[in-house]
Amino acid sequence: MLRSRVQTMLQVIENEAALTGRLTGRFRFDPLVMQAMAGVPRDRFVPAAINDQAFDNNPLPIGEGQTISQPFIVALMTDLLDPQAGHRVLEIGTGSGYQAAILSRVVGQVYSLEIIPALAKRAAAGLRRLGYRNVEVKTADGHVGWPEQAPFDGILITAAATHLPKALLTQLKPGGRLVIPVGFPGQRQELMLVEKDPAGICHTQNILGVVFVPMTGGETEAGAA
Ligand code: SAH
Repeated sequence: MLRSRVQTMLQVIENEAALTGRLTGRFRFDPLVMQAMAGVPRDRFVPAAINDQAFDNNPLPIGEGQTISQPFIVALMTDLLDPQAGHRVLEIGTGSGYQAAILSRVVGQVYSLEIIPALAKRAAAGLRRLGYRNVEVKTADGHVGWPEQAPFDGILITAAATHLPKALLTQLKPGGRLVIPVGFPGQRQELMLVEKDPAGICHTQNILGVVFVPMTGGETEAGAA
């Protein structure tokens, strides 16, 4: 039963990748990303009351007014990072910890920041319980990144920002990739891919229209008004 729900979810992701490929440039995702999607039990990251919907291709509420992202979007964002086994990746917006768990199966080390302490605590405990040892979760405002652990091969922001946070661009390695939904709360946002070239110049590309919960905080960001 569980197996068939997971298989259906994978099939839906594959179909959606094929349908959006003209926009995203990716008609199918890396097999390692799909293996991670197959292996991480999404039902363990959603509230028990809505467990029957855990493998639907929808975002779901996780408390505190926040959501776990749609599986297709999680797969797309992970794939856009071109993740590799030795990579160190920073995630902003731990939420349920699901995206962090997916990343932890395809890269070497995941650092994840969550601004709501209760969510950070719950996600860290859940990840530990499920045996994800290469994920570190911290309560902090993602606008400042995680300077002590920088630089990163990839940075993934899972809340909608109104702009590209400067500190995050600084903490990206040359050759690294950053994926972020940019736009205003309540509106459709644009999922953007930022590639920092070997000379340190950032090149930005619009990928797809998306809807994310807003990135909050930002008051202490260097250069913020
Ligand atoms: N990646 C999550 C889903 C994220 S929902 C998952 O897999 O479940 C977006 C999350 O970003 C929310 O939990 C929200 O509290 C968090 N968030 C919003 N603004 C933030 C900020 N400035 N820094 C860190 N986390 C933030």
